[in-house]
Amino acid sequence: MQSVKIPLTIDPYRAAAKKLDYQGIIAADGLERLASMVVSVADDAQVNLSFYEDLSGIVVFEGTVVCPVIMECQRCGEKMRLELKTGFRYSPDIKKIEELELQDQYDCADLNNLGEIDLYAIIEDELILSLPLIAKHSDEECPASDLIESLYDNEDTAELKHNPFAELGELIKHKNSNS
Ligand SMILES: [Zn+2]
Repeated sequence: MQSVKIPLTIDPYRAAAKKLDYQGIIAADGLERLASMVVSVADDAQVNLSFYEDLSGIVVFEGTVVCPVIMECQRCGEKMRLELKTGFRYSPDIKKIEELELQDQYDCADLNNLGEIDLYAIIEDELILSLPLIAKHSDEECPASDLIESLYDNEDTAELKHNPFAELGELIKHKNSNS
């Protein structure tokens, strides 16, 4: 499928009237805020986006975004590739949403002075919110797993099982000085 560039900004009312669907990309270098929070943005973000008016007349835009990033594993310190993936549903009809008490179903989108929404900012916010609090490899993939496991066998370190990551540095020193 052809990848179109997602527009930077769009009038959501006009887009909903036309029932616009987008399948496209946001180029990796357009995601500067996200890039500043990870090692790097590995590739363009793939975006699916639909604009429509729902049965109560609320203008809605919803979609999904997938974006690969490189982060540092908090356990072993090596770089790892992670696929950020998230879905969202927004509406600019803040008043209607409040009247119908649908706040839990939509995020509110602010319009700029041209009556447009900043699509890039919204989608980038969603990607940032989907970042893991602690990035780490799965147990099988992480080179530090074997080390942690071998340390678990040591009775002296049994009490550290509850929080092995914070203590890993200490344990490595301990292990090295013992060997
Ligand atoms: Zn790791």
